[in-house]
Amino acid sequence: MRYASLSLDLDNLWAYMKTHGDPGWESYPSYLDAVVPRILEFLAARRLTITFFIVGQDAALEKNRAALRAIVDAGHEIGNHSFRHEPWLHLYKPAELDQELRQAEEAIKSATGVHPRGFRGPGFSLSEDTLDTLLRRGYEYDATVFPNLLNPLARAYLFSTSKLTPEEKKQRSALFGTWKDAFRPVRPFQWRLADGRLLEIPVTTLPGLKVPMHLSYLIYLAKFSRVAARCYLRFALGACAATGTQPSILLHPLDFMGREDCAELAFFPGMDLARERKLAIMAELFDILSARCEMVTMGEHARRASASRDALRTLTPVFPS
Ligand SMILES: [Zn+2]
Repeated sequence: MRYASLSLDLDNLWAYMKTHGDPGWESYPSYLDAVVPRILEFLAARRLTITFFIVGQDAALEKNRAALRAIVDAGHEIGNHSFRHEPWLHLYKPAELDQELRQAEEAIKSATGVHPRGFRGPGFSLSEDTLDTLLRRGYEYDATVFPNLLNPLARAYLFSTSKLTPEEKKQRSALFGTWKDAFRPVRPFQWRLADGRLLEIPVTTLPGLKVPMHLSYLIYLAKFSRVAARCYLRFALGACAATGTQPSILLHPLDFMGREDCAELAFFPGMDLARERKLAIMAELFDILSARCEMVTMGEHARRASASRDALRTLTPVFPS
């Protein structure tokens, strides 16, 4: 049977507010205690084990610890999603990157007992220095690449809904990735770095067309037509099968939340739907995924991809300056 990895970026309310330039994020408002049990229940009902990329700052706060501990207790994999969740991580100097990753690792270990072995950059921000730092710190894989042609559109939409200053927009100019990212592979590959090789598992987009197939996007389509969203997912999985791509599929907490859960994020696509409707859409989409793929963690995807290491493409990192 074909397989697909599932991962959830555990972006918290404050992280969205910070990226969007909204005041009040500095007190780290959190919805984790409300949404994590709901996500865990959804996954348990389908007997799924996935990867949660956790933000170190959340792990460092006592108020989030019970929710984070519950993720580990349910058997899910824990990855590192940076400490401060700054989508301009690609601008950090090597020493700052080392500190950022170390701080996140320590907070995550202290909260969950797990030392993370996989990484996804905030807002899909990535640099050669980040890859070098990950390799040096013993990571098994990076999962930041998002080869999505629509990234600049998503960024323009977010900017249009925000009160960001020109300076803040410049800082966020690589948010959701760059045009360059759209031309990277959709299937796992290896980065050729000065000190060795690092496995990359990109967030899968539609092979060839490089348009998104992650759950937030499918929910947005379902807002207009649930039939169209289901057809789109079947078509996307078919395209993956036809091209020998084992997809890596991305989730977010907002996929499990409705308008009654978080008024602050009403600007976000799909956050105008009621919670029950959204969960019903998610259930339909997961029925399609489960019928077509064995669903595994990112760590398991990394192990299977590495087992066929000779078949993996090797790329030299080239990032826009
Ligand atoms: Zn994030």
